[in-house]
Amino acid sequence: MNLGFQEDQAAFESASQTARVTTEGWAARELYCPACGDDALAAYPNNKPVADLFCKSCNEDYELKSQKTRIGAKVLDGAWATMLQRLTSASNPSLFVMRYHAEVRAVRDLIVVPKHFFTPDLIEKRKPLAPTAWRAGWVGCNILVGRVPPLGRIDIVREGQIVDRAEVVNRWRRTSFLREKRPDTRGWLIETMAQIEMLGRKEFTIDDAYGFAPALSALYPENSHVREKIRQQLQFLRDHGWLEFVGRGRYRLIKR
Ligand SMILES: [Zn+2]
Repeated sequence: MNLGFQEDQAAFESASQTARVTTEGWAARELYCPACGDDALAAYPNNKPVADLFCKSCNEDYELKSQKTRIGAKVLDGAWATMLQRLTSASNPSLFVMRYHAEVRAVRDLIVVPKHFFTPDLIEKRKPLAPTAWRAGWVGCNILVGRVPPLGRIDIVREGQIVDRAEVVNRWRRTSFLREKRPDTRGWLIETMAQIEMLGRKEFTIDDAYGFAPALSALYPENSHVREKIRQQLQFLRDHGWLEFVGRGRYRLIKR
């Protein structure tokens, strides 16, 4: 993978259009599919509104958002209503977020958030555009990338260093079973997994897991059966080979 941009600084109508053409051109030329490891991604024609890139091998769709600034809490996305609707459809794309170096003309950071980490909580509605705006009343959205737990933010390039492809694909596969859950019920599972990862241990006890209750209650104040919900998530994670029960209230993470 070559991190430099080769696209001509052609005379596009705006700086944002130039950046989009440049970064999408780079992705179609250099980027592999983080879902299946296939060598190349293909670009959709520009008039296709649902996604920017796709994998011919596994059919995964991708959206690419690029910025000059550090990847932070939010990424600006398209129409809010479309985004919410997309969440529940099979064609919802996974998200690449790129930080590029405008002077050097190269990629500095690139992460991918697999679509199975998307929940309605991550889509933030923006204020409607002012009546004086060209698209008055239009409502956009932000994707709250900062709320995605570390296991759902997979580094592909970090500070100009390329992460090993096998590691990227492996990280993706470790969580792909989340696709079996509907987006509106995925939040509990994702947050429980994030808490387990934060323990930083290969083994933990049910009491450790009950220790997640205050954090989870803060996120889901409407649910009063927090311990039961935690046990349900552990069960699901066991059934999908993410962890195993080793007896007497002990759990062990399974490395794949
Ligand atoms: Zn693929």
